Amino acid sequence: MAYDDNNIFAKILRGEIPCKKVYEDEHTLAFHDINPQAPVHVLVIPKGAYVSMDDFSAKASATEQAAFVRAIGQVALQLGIVDSGYRVLANHGRDGHQEVPHLHMHVFGGRDLGPMIGRPRS
Ligand code: 5GP
Repeated sequence: MAYDDNNIFAKILRGEIPCKKVYEDEHTLAFHDINPQAPVHVLVIPKGAYVSMDDFSAKASATEQAAFVRAIGQVALQLGIVDSGYRVLANHGRDGHQEVPHLHMHVFGGRDLGPMIGRPRS
């Protein structure tokens, strides 16, 4: 899938739409999800134009990839969910129900998060 410069996270990165920032470094930004599904629900995104994990792992530099992984750990530490536990999840493409076509990791925590994956509705 080609990257769409008009996706909502690209607008956040350009400062056209506000976000509640949690963490930022040269290559990565993390901010609170606008519609949280748990007491802690943060999105971690690379600043580069990547659609998905496969795209990012194929095209991003080692420095960008390391920064992304480090940011996820930093967010968990910063938000105090390391001891209680948390979940990191990324949705990709149609079957993953990805809504925003810019790579993002969801970091959930602050309550019992239940089973890893729901059954499809019939
Ligand atoms: P996806 O289904 O693509 O994995 O999740 C996209 C996430 O982005 C959703 O959890 C949604 O609530 C969040 N989101 C959509 N638009 C905005 C926005 O403008 N600001 C923030 N902070 N989150 C957003």
